[in-house]
Amino acid sequence: MNWKKIILHIDMNAFFASIEQRDDHALQGKPVAVTNGQHGSCIITCSYEARAFGVKTGMRFSDAKLLCPKIIRKSSNPKKYAETSTRIMRILQNISPDIEIFSVDEAFVDLTNCKKIYSSPLNVACFIKDRIYSDVCLPCSIGISENKSMAKFAAKLKKPDGITVLNAQQAKQVLQKYLVTELCGVSKGIQKFLNAHNVYKCGDMRKIPISILGNRYGNVGRRIWLMAQGLDYDSLKQENKPPKSFGHGKVTMPGLKDVHLIKKIFRHMCEKVAKRMRINNYESNKYIIGFKTRNGWCIKNFQLAYYTNNGSTIYKLAENIICEINYNIGINQVQVTASNPKLLDLQYDLFGNTLNSKEQKIDNALDVIHQKFANVKIGSARLLGEINSPDVISPSWRPDGWKRSV
Ligand SMILES: [Mg+2]
Repeated sequence: MNWKKIILHIDMNAFFASIEQRDDHALQGKPVAVTNGQHGSCIITCSYEARAFGVKTGMRFSDAKLLCPKIIRKSSNPKKYAETSTRIMRILQNISPDIEIFSVDEAFVDLTNCKKIYSSPLNVACFIKDRIYSDVCLPCSIGISENKSMAKFAAKLKKPDGITVLNAQQAKQVLQKYLVTELCGVSKGIQKFLNAHNVYKCGDMRKIPISILGNRYGNVGRRIWLMAQGLDYDSLKQENKPPKSFGHGKVTMPGLKDVHLIKKIFRHMCEKVAKRMRINNYESNKYIIGFKTRNGWCIKNFQLAYYTNNGSTIYKLAENIICEINYNIGINQVQVTASNPKLLDLQYDLFGNTLNSKEQKIDNALDVIHQKFANVKIGSARLLGEINSPDVISPSWRPDGWKRSV
């Protein structure tokens, strides 16, 4: 094989839903939607049987029920998903050390440096599928190509349970008829921009110069221009870069107006952000806090004179935006993000602007208890009661590093 690079993209099929079907025979062959908790309103993922009815990730369960009345709601089990993901990634790490964990259920494997060990990439792909199936009993799709974006595109072509090999020439040919939105990284905004330049399908991209995208979106734009033509010079990202932010959000019931509950949700998100920073030894002085209504987002940026990773301090900032909620229309979503976090230097602030040590001690003690006894519910009394927010696993979850949080 005379490819410059050999990249495999491994994508688990309907990952969370497949795990639920695997563990409960009654769900096999049935339309299943996974939501956060027994009453979660938003679908995190759904089985292929549900997809056949037009049910999609991100859809409200009530809307899915209209499309597919027999759909079964299954509450998510993040710890099980994290454990399964870890096992899958360990299998891939044994195939080649050059691996990029792209999301909780997707990874790139670069075989370029180990092509002498293996007879062919197709054989490796078959081997990976067998190993994953025998270990965790789940199906996956694998795309094999000369670069990352084409491997990812190839993996999408045969779902579920397929293997697709595309060389650069074939990739360019096949891509022509696909919409630009099929490419990884083309957001709604970029799609709009491209459509305004008469670019709808990947084949149309040749009609505009690369500079149009480059001037508007920089390197991201230039990469998309190349991707549409089967090219991609991006290499695998293996190192765990320092975090740019720590964020937690929650989709509420539409038009939530209960002041008490809204405050509790905000407090909960603040605590989650704070806790994740503490576990990873980070703190921040910049916070972006907001809520979404049917009319869109209302977001505020806050900057403190000192760094913190204490939930109550962050919540005090949140109060400045909670007071702006219009309770006639209510809210649909809440988001709390710490931006630009920095590693704790563990030095005392001479001017006394940091938290008092009592609060810090309480936080640390609670973190130790939670880490040791996962099922113990202990915390601020203000958080007890109605809001029993289930654990959530983010798509960016990783088996190692600071993204490792359920
Ligand atoms: Mg997947």
